[in-house]
Amino acid sequence: MKLPVYLDYHATAPVDPEVLQAMMPYFTEVFGNAASRNHEYGWTAEAAVEKARQQISKLIGATEKEVIFTSGATESNNLAIKGVAEMYQEKGNHIITSTIEHKAILDTCHALEKKGFEITYLPVDRYGQVSAEAVRNAITPKTILVSIMAANNEIGTINPIGSIGKVCKEKGVIFHTDAVQLVGKGHVDVEEMGIDLLSMTAHKMCGPKGVAALYVRRRNPRVRLAAMMHGGGHERGMRSGTLNVPGIVGFGKAAELAGRRMVEESGRIQRLRDFLWEKIQADLDEVYLNGHPNERLPGNLNVSFAYVEGESLMMGMKELAVSSGSACTSASLEPSYVLKNIGVGEDLAHTSIRFGLGRFTTQEEIEFAASKVISTVKKLRDLSPLYEMAKEGIDLKSVNWTGH
Ligand SMILES: *Cc1c(COP(=O)(O)O)cnc(C)c1O
Repeated sequence: MKLPVYLDYHATAPVDPEVLQAMMPYFTEVFGNAASRNHEYGWTAEAAVEKARQQISKLIGATEKEVIFTSGATESNNLAIKGVAEMYQEKGNHIITSTIEHKAILDTCHALEKKGFEITYLPVDRYGQVSAEAVRNAITPKTILVSIMAANNEIGTINPIGSIGKVCKEKGVIFHTDAVQLVGKGHVDVEEMGIDLLSMTAHKMCGPKGVAALYVRRRNPRVRLAAMMHGGGHERGMRSGTLNVPGIVGFGKAAELAGRRMVEESGRIQRLRDFLWEKIQADLDEVYLNGHPNERLPGNLNVSFAYVEGESLMMGMKELAVSSGSACTSASLEPSYVLKNIGVGEDLAHTSIRFGLGRFTTQEEIEFAASKVISTVKKLRDLSPLYEMAKEGIDLKSVNWTGH
């Protein structure tokens, strides 16, 4: 077992050996520019790109022509939102999103606000879900885009994307979803779910970093986007720039593997996740699950451990590569805005840990992680007067701390 145990699959995943193998020839022998139309080198590169387009489109129920390659889901999200905003600004200036989207969505929306667009940030319920009804009620004649994530990267909650897509179809509003975390892990079908634009990225599904895609619907309706990157007219004019052929080949392979293994793999990962959660609950009290109990990513477990100090918890478990519910801003430790928006108090948010399991996570690693977390929390609680008082039945809110 390699230490630290990697449990941060929402941040990134290692490249699958089969993916790497598929990519290798495209760095050296098959190095052509996919846009070179005059010779064999270009044709071979183009054929490899088209094969990847097919592998990727198949995973989400799209057609090849609807897949636009980008440098990352951050770019895909920017292109989707700014591309629609600019193209449809005569029709309206209103965009609907949610409060717990990835920063690539929220910061893009904030930038548009400065340019005169109106953004509605829909609140989420205590599990982190946006309801289709809330989307329906927020749509106005000025609404040009709804952007709601498929699954949240911190708490793993999956949204009712199909129902939201249906509302958008009824109202004739373009529907974008940041599906980075769900694609390859759970069922996604752009036709069935009424999705018009979808962001996905290779490195969250055991593909390489720096390559991603935006699905852009071509019929019923045909979605038009203003380009952000000009020059050369690649990718149907929506995203110019020489294609990252080895990356795209790897992305295609990763999509194929994810599709082929999804049912078996998600089942296995979910069983490991459930085992971890059961073990934690069996040995510790005052632990709280963040996110939805069932409608969540198979590899996600987000837990608050009351009465421990978040920093000390992280420091005490250096053998685990996990993520905490606090974000270091310049000077202070801010609680995660996602946890805040589902109603987790600041104290509990600081004690939250996100475990992200994935393809290469083993039973041995999960057993190690469980005992590490449990022993660390127990140790910290033994040192905590607050925990002791709570155990003695003292209501901490009633304590007069200053003694006056
Ligand atoms: C990782 C992530 C992104 C950003 O993807 P990059 O390819 O790293 O730019 C966007 N949205 C979600 C939900 C993510 O988890």
